[in-house]
Amino acid sequence: MATYSSRNRESPNILLTGTPGTGKTTLGQELALRLDMQYVNVGDVAKEKELYEGWDEDYQCPVLDEDRVIDEMEEIVNNGGCIIDYHSCEFFPERWFDIIFVLRTDNSVLYNRLQQRGYSGRKLQDNIQCEIFQTILDEARSSYLPSIVFPLASNCPDDLETNIDKIKDYIERWKASKEQI
Ligand code: ADP
Repeated sequence: MATYSSRNRESPNILLTGTPGTGKTTLGQELALRLDMQYVNVGDVAKEKELYEGWDEDYQCPVLDEDRVIDEMEEIVNNGGCIIDYHSCEFFPERWFDIIFVLRTDNSVLYNRLQQRGYSGRKLQDNIQCEIFQTILDEARSSYLPSIVFPLASNCPDDLETNIDKIKDYIERWKASKEQI
């Protein structure tokens, strides 16, 4: 199988990760629209193709078959220009991503968003704790080069606009740095 790296792509692959409810889907879809990139929601890919390997009794949800998800997405991702959305990040191949953004939301704001989504009990508490302990940010920093991992505040509509501008800027700089090679 051919080995791909960022050298093969003209547009970067971006991972949007963070605790559920921090706004990955909202930001990812808006970015894809405005920057003409491909938005890929990993949860939706898994659901559509039934890429599961069991059932989690604690959370009452299917368990992702990570190897099959990677196989399914490999070709799309290798083309570059993808915005990948998932609430975890350590199982993806490191070579896939050029820039990683970890969305962060204040606890009270996140609590309300998850409650509105119908989360309660342990599922709600565990997700709030995940955000308090910055679990996903630590996971991203330990799984990828810390120099490509950036936290982004995601509390209000102004943050959404600021984040879109920041990401546009990162993409332009990424493209400029490639042209110099
Ligand atoms: P995720 O994909 O991380 O689970 P969503 O994009 O589905 O999160 O967002 C969760 C909720 O928060 C949605 O109701 C969405 O409209 C809202 N939301 C997302 N980003 C923002 C933001 N920047 N300001 C205000 N509300 C937001």
